[in-house]
Amino acid sequence: MYFHRDLKDQAIDLPAGKVVCVGRNYADHIKELNNPIPEEPLLFIKPSTSLCRFSEPLSIPNGQGECHNELELAVLIGSELKSADADSASNAIWGYALGLDLTLRDKQTSLKNQGLPWERAKAFDYSCPVSGFVRKASIEDAQNIDFSLTINGQRRQQGNSELMLLSISNLLVEASQVFTLLPGDIVMTGTPKGVGPLYSGDKIEANMQDKIHIQTYVV
Ligand code: ZN
Repeated sequence: MYFHRDLKDQAIDLPAGKVVCVGRNYADHIKELNNPIPEEPLLFIKPSTSLCRFSEPLSIPNGQGECHNELELAVLIGSELKSADADSASNAIWGYALGLDLTLRDKQTSLKNQGLPWERAKAFDYSCPVSGFVRKASIEDAQNIDFSLTINGQRRQQGNSELMLLSISNLLVEASQVFTLLPGDIVMTGTPKGVGPLYSGDKIEANMQDKIHIQTYVV
């Protein structure tokens, strides 16, 4: 069963809650999928059953078209936020991790075209692998975090949190207007460009600065 862990693989004393995600928070990714820049942040939720450990072999759904990587900075919420301001939002952050917002892209496109909700494409079991969390205090500047994803030795995603359209604290402010963020919830902050299909046997490497290094593979 999934539970939040720190970098020493110790359990963090916060329940595994919901995951609030933002679509289209990096201009380069908006461009690669030919989407318009949203007027208000595009928010959606993955349930707690979507969570799994990033460091373990990843299972992706079969027979439902392409399943894409979206490597994102994940924020762990340490205290409740409801219609929060930017200061209380920053103070409520426990720490940061790397997360994958796994997306059944063909399914999502078909749902989008029919004006239907995205859950079947985004919120399925194990659709949100997350790494251990780095404590907030160990991160000098959360808006200047480099992270990258390598598949089979080829760099696929290279992001830096300074390129977010909506900063982390503003994203928490926005999200907390709609969904009360509870201790143990995660907020995924959007993907930079470089999304693409994952296949069984793919070797995956993900890095966040000198803090997080993950090596795993797709089952
Ligand atoms: Zn995403």
